[in-house]
Amino acid sequence: MSSVLVIGAGGVGNVVIRKCAAVPAVFERLCLASRTVSKCEQIAAALPRPIETAQVDADDPTQVAALIRRFKPDLVLNVALPYQDLPIMDACLETGVDYLDTANYEPRDEAKFEYKWQWAYHDRFRDKGIMALLGSGFDPGVTNIFCAYAQKHHFDEIHTVDIFDCNAGEHGHHFATNFNPEINIREITQRGKFWEEGQWKETDPLSVSRDIDFPEVGVRKAYLLYHEEEESLVKHIRGLRRIRFWMTFGQEYLTHLRVLQNVGMTNIEPVEFQGHQIIPLEFLKVLLPDPGSLGVNYHGKTCIGCDFEGIKDGKPKKLKIYNVCDHEQCFKEVQAQAVSYTTGVPAMIGAMMMVTGQWRGQGVFNVEQFDPDPFLEKLNEYGLPWHEVVA
Ligand code: NDP
Repeated sequence: MSSVLVIGAGGVGNVVIRKCAAVPAVFERLCLASRTVSKCEQIAAALPRPIETAQVDADDPTQVAALIRRFKPDLVLNVALPYQDLPIMDACLETGVDYLDTANYEPRDEAKFEYKWQWAYHDRFRDKGIMALLGSGFDPGVTNIFCAYAQKHHFDEIHTVDIFDCNAGEHGHHFATNFNPEINIREITQRGKFWEEGQWKETDPLSVSRDIDFPEVGVRKAYLLYHEEEESLVKHIRGLRRIRFWMTFGQEYLTHLRVLQNVGMTNIEPVEFQGHQIIPLEFLKVLLPDPGSLGVNYHGKTCIGCDFEGIKDGKPKKLKIYNVCDHEQCFKEVQAQAVSYTTGVPAMIGAMMMVTGQWRGQGVFNVEQFDPDPFLEKLNEYGLPWHEVVA
């Protein structure tokens, strides 16, 4: 039995807390804290059992540490925004409590996500005898664990990994993002990047695409993006020669994005507006639909997974591992769309691995550094069944 403090009451936080609340034998005490406490209270009111709620500004490690001292969790599960990763890790260090997140830190003034800031905490977490688990969502998260599973059970060497993320759902809005709009648009408008033969190669944003035939979805155009799991997988997968990440976007989405970029609405440099400094992308976020609200009319499926090529017993081998998730089913179960669901369920399972002692370590870890089997068993059990196909 454990106590978990969840920070962030957005689309993902809603799924995490509902899923944790449904497993009282593991998650005995729960607290949902966020910047806007009314959102926590609204989610708490829909749960089958009481939890605590709290207001916290997680940009301030002192506030987070005070909340940790008050609630006394075994683990802090961070599903606020990537900007809050370091202040929450600082608070965990100060109070000696384990940490988990789903997205790596990026500074507000530069759209550049890298693990270096969080990996730099390794020695301090180790010396304090506590654990941080980074990137326990779907991608990063389950995709890394699919890689660890492929490495453990299917290959002597994995030579290429192509991670694919297809959202074939329709939400009925002209333009909306499936998770936090600010973070999502910063990610997509960056330069593309992939790793090949020992080096990173860059591409212009959304300049490389190909058609992929996704299981249960069909053929969709997918674009090469840089995604954070590539950075840790390059370190942890044996024999890797190339890793790429592909994500689908509809034409409507891309047209809106291009126009917004062209008029400067996706910029992150402050501009003067009626005597105030505002950041155009932060203002745009206020206008766009809240990702947590998209589920109501969402239909269609997501298909996320990995294609592998490598060697087993001296022979070439190909493997696909994936999950298909249905937006409407997710909404029926937890009043969320599939992107929040596919992130929130692995966050809950990562926490379960830590508090039950199945994944333990002292320091800062990525999910592929642990045994994939118990995690993948729980993934089937808690709503995200996965499939493997050997070619
Ligand atoms: P939302 O914008 O819906 O929710 C973010 C929540 O964090 C909001 O409730 C917000 O509060 C809260 N928050 C923001 N700043 C602070 C702060 N300073 N202190 C306390 N709370 C704060 O985002 P999502 O739920 O869609 O995404 C959550 C996280 O999940 C993001 O980091 C995202 O990158 C990650 N993610 C990971 C994926 C994966 O597969 N690994 C996929 C999708 C998302 P308020 O309501 O007041 O704004």
